Amino acid sequence: MPCKTPYKIFTGERVLATLPKWINQNYPSYKIAIILDSNTKKFCKKHLEKNLNKCPQKKLWIEFKAGEKQKNLKTVEEICEKLFKNNFGRDTLILAFGGGVTGDIAGFLAAIYMRGVPFVQIPTTLLAMVDSSIGGKTGVDTSFGKNLLGAFYEPKAVFADMNFLKTLPKKEYENGLVESLKMFISMDKKAVSKWQKNEKKILKKDKNLLNWIIKNSIQLKQNVTQDDLTENGKRSVLNWGHSVGHALEKLSKYTLSHGHAVGLGMIWESQIAIDKKYLGKDALKQIQTLLKNLEVNLEELKNIKVDAIIETMKTDKKNRNGRIKMIMLKKMGETVHARNDWTVTATPQEIKTAYKNLLHANL
Ligand code: NAD
Repeated sequence: MPCKTPYKIFTGERVLATLPKWINQNYPSYKIAIILDSNTKKFCKKHLEKNLNKCPQKKLWIEFKAGEKQKNLKTVEEICEKLFKNNFGRDTLILAFGGGVTGDIAGFLAAIYMRGVPFVQIPTTLLAMVDSSIGGKTGVDTSFGKNLLGAFYEPKAVFADMNFLKTLPKKEYENGLVESLKMFISMDKKAVSKWQKNEKKILKKDKNLLNWIIKNSIQLKQNVTQDDLTENGKRSVLNWGHSVGHALEKLSKYTLSHGHAVGLGMIWESQIAIDKKYLGKDALKQIQTLLKNLEVNLEELKNIKVDAIIETMKTDKKNRNGRIKMIMLKKMGETVHARNDWTVTATPQEIKTAYKNLLHANL
């Protein structure tokens, strides 16, 4: 399904300064609800508050405790209650202000509040800038798995201001870089080469390179989401590394970060692709080197329970007819697909064997 409403994406430094004018032009008589977590409040609120002073509309700041553990229906319900108590009706504009967790929660809330109110993404982590604020996926986790409840609901605009990244901890910066790498390795070979040449500068948050990473990631994501909003085909490519990654993340009780888990998933799923003769060994070596520099370490796989990982993978949304489906890398910049099917079946035995092969070769 094509995107229903193409929306503007503002990226770069100081783009937040353009937000008040945009709100006043598009939503002059709306009330504004700003959803943010405890860390975004600490590090970023002042900056947004200063800009929003130029908006005369009624404002309500709604905060929740930071962390993936809060990405559930209870948090959504608590935020809704605050909106009801403050008489926020259909004329509400939601600002999703924070990382991917906030964007997913606030976007989902916007999709269901009064059967849908407009929302704007203001990402403050690199991961949210390059990935989660784009493409209209919103939702929450359940005890059965990640992102199992949600809606495809696009924002009215995205304001990705690089200035927010100044306070982002190294680990969170690396998480964002992993998601960018995921898109580059699976869809853009030239970008991988540029990354390899400039790796040291990227790790030091070089402004120009960071700007390039954000813009290129957004472009790649838009290329696959604009014709396939509800993920019936090409959009599935974005899930490379996520079949294993989501299971690792859930079984760690979310102590393993999303980016980190996806990085490990990219390596494990590449080994499955090698075993299934889709991918050459050299590609995996390159991927491992790139990810090792982002602190994605195979040691973390050493003591995991593979059977439990496979059980959790059985709840993945890509699965069909009881079979585990995942994205297979074919070579740098390309994944396997047959007509409109971008997923490949991986049996529990293949997943287990790949794990053994991976650990045998590396640890
Ligand atoms: P996050 O939202 O938990 O942010 C990471 C941490 O950084 C949090 O503690 C947050 O409070 C803090 N933080 C945010 N901005 C900061 C800043 N500027 N300075 C200092 N600290 C800051 O997690 P994330 O990594 O941004 O996103 C991961 C989530 O995104 C997962 O739930 C994942 O499922 C989801 N996701 C969604 C999509 C999508 O398409 N909707 C895509 C990828 C990932």
